[in-house]
Amino acid sequence: MCGIFGVYGHLEAAALTQLGLYSLQHRGQESAGIVAVDDDGRARVSRAMGLVSEGFEDAEMDALQGPIAIGHTRYSTAGASAIENAQPILARVRRSHIALAHNGNLTNAVELRRDLEEDGAIFSSTMDSEAIVHRIARATGESPEARVAAALQGVEGAYCLLVVLDETVIVARDPHGWRPLVMGRIGESYVFASETCALDIVGATVEREILPGEIVAVDAQGLRSINALESAPINRCVFEHVYFARPDSKVFGGSVDRSRRALGRKLAIEQPAPGAEVVFAVPDSSNSAALGFAEESGIPYELALIRNHYVGRTFIQPTQAGRDAKVKVKYNPVRELLEGKSVVMVDDSIVRGTTTRGLVSLVRAAGAREVHMRVSSAPIISSCYYGIDTPHRGELIAAQMSHAELVRHLGVDSLGYLSIDGMLSAMPSGPDGYCHACFSGRYPTPIPADPELLRAGSAA
Ligand code: SF4
Repeated sequence: MCGIFGVYGHLEAAALTQLGLYSLQHRGQESAGIVAVDDDGRARVSRAMGLVSEGFEDAEMDALQGPIAIGHTRYSTAGASAIENAQPILARVRRSHIALAHNGNLTNAVELRRDLEEDGAIFSSTMDSEAIVHRIARATGESPEARVAAALQGVEGAYCLLVVLDETVIVARDPHGWRPLVMGRIGESYVFASETCALDIVGATVEREILPGEIVAVDAQGLRSINALESAPINRCVFEHVYFARPDSKVFGGSVDRSRRALGRKLAIEQPAPGAEVVFAVPDSSNSAALGFAEESGIPYELALIRNHYVGRTFIQPTQAGRDAKVKVKYNPVRELLEGKSVVMVDDSIVRGTTTRGLVSLVRAAGAREVHMRVSSAPIISSCYYGIDTPHRGELIAAQMSHAELVRHLGVDSLGYLSIDGMLSAMPSGPDGYCHACFSGRYPTPIPADPELLRAGSAA
């Protein structure tokens, strides 16, 4: 998963982009980058490993001049977490430039790359996104957006793209609409972002979503929209609302906070915990769901688990060693709220179970008498090929253990998941048009022929 942000037509485009990336930090913490294009059409790039706050020296920001900028925060869904895989990509082709920031995962990346390599293309990264750059470089069209549309014919999977071709910004969203992308305005300037929280931070007003299959171009000739991509069934990622997006964002047209509270309320109805005395969240992504559970059940909500905000999200750390170490330093229970009590611990999802198991043990050590685990999504049983890091079925604990085994393994007194129907009915626009493949195993498109090869050479 990644965050993308772009600006067209603002004197401080790069500075606004840096701000926007701060708001999209939760979507990727491995690297950050900005490409800016100045009034003379010169493109410059700054990319660094780590957080946005660590990535850009003042001198580098000063050099990122011009009215156009795009930015990216990355975590690798696969492949190396390395600077050559940081985005935006900036390529110079025939006295021109192509810059690209990508959120999503291409399901036919291996085939695209093989075809390009057989045709003489040389890749400088292991990212699937680079295949799109090569295709844009080779594509022709009467306009920049037509050229991008031509390049995207035959590209399959999930993509939200910000592209700069010379002095035109082109924005594209795949026809299935897996990942979110919104457009906003600051006066005459246009702003594009993965989530609305990034528009808020720069003072932009939200105009609208970029629609699935839509390509928008903006340059000196103004803003244009085309629908040049083959239409497809809509498959918005339900996990964006469950876990990934920020609760202060609107995603797919609906408030994430509202949908998470609805998930929590439905969870309390489907999986009540009679006799429990306290409800608390695994912060922060489960706070809204735990509030919903408390509202519906009438059980008091407490801040019984405190998160150390100076440690990154465990889920988006690429190695197991990193994850294990971070669970231990990331949370601390409030003993006074837990001692002698029967408690409900609400989390949005259980992926590998490492964090959950550690937390249950922490909560018991703090004196909880009973621990009832409630999860505001269905069990994750399948890998995602559309941009979320759940690649190995063998690592998904709910795919490997029975319910009784899970209860024992996690060390809880009871365990209750929300049903898939309950989850989908909490979505802001109703249950239809969502991808739920990682929960149901029902993939909306053919999955990659060789997922391991795809993982070794893809990122977003
Ligand atoms: Fe989202 Fe799961 Fe579908 Fe991936 S498989 S796009 S995480 S709902």
